[in-house]
Amino acid sequence: MLRFIPLNSGSNGNSIYVENDGVAILIDAGLSRKRTLERISLSGGDVNKIKAIIITHEHTDHVSGLKILSKYHSVPVHMTKGTADVLNERGILPDTFVIIPSEGVFSVGNIRIRTGRTYHDAREPIYVRIESNNKIITYITDTGFVDYKMKNTMKYSDLIFLEANYDPETLARNEKYPFYLKERIKGRYGHLSNLDASYILRDVATERNKYLFLGHLSEQNNSPETVLRFVPDELKNKNIMIASRDSISDIVEL
Ligand SMILES: [Zn+2]
Ligand SMILES: [Zn+2]
Repeated sequence: MLRFIPLNSGSNGNSIYVENDGVAILIDAGLSRKRTLERISLSGGDVNKIKAIIITHEHTDHVSGLKILSKYHSVPVHMTKGTADVLNERGILPDTFVIIPSEGVFSVGNIRIRTGRTYHDAREPIYVRIESNNKIITYITDTGFVDYKMKNTMKYSDLIFLEANYDPETLARNEKYPFYLKERIKGRYGHLSNLDASYILRDVATERNKYLFLGHLSEQNNSPETVLRFVPDELKNKNIMIASRDSISDIVEL
């Protein structure tokens, strides 16, 4: 059984635990080691089952716990060359790093992982598609744009995890955010809004997409209630979940 457990999702920290038949992977390490271990054991997972860590890109909310975590749990840490270069420049590249192409396939136990490029202001950022026991999960956050390849992957997924970072109106009204930052967030290399996510999901939705997670919410510019307001009626027959910014989200078993 493929278990999908978002340990945390949001601009404050991202980490996803995925397990199948005794082998697990961690996508991103944006929580402290203590929090990561706490939440894995709370969710019925086991840190010792983690055989690989995959880093989508170098932003702090995806790597803040990586250095300490990889020191105690010495497993391969997969990332693109661009991401590795930046982590190296910052002195937080783990010894066990493995370079993967931004568009490629590799396996960890019986979990197959396919990567693809996102549109984001990082050196070489990726999204991740996970396949095991003929079940497919697509995990896409931190992108300002979703292209046809991403949409195609989403169509064949049993579970889609898609970013819904900000509410456009709240962002426009936010006086604490300078103009350039608002432009960055809204841009092609920024983040997806609630509106973007709802259009994309309506566009790709197939019978196969049983579970839809919306995640990577901004604290100041979004809320779970606002995200739900944007969910189109056509998708109300799906299991729609909002990933939590401060606890484990719903666990999905496929
Ligand atoms: Zn992020
Ligand atoms: Zn990012």
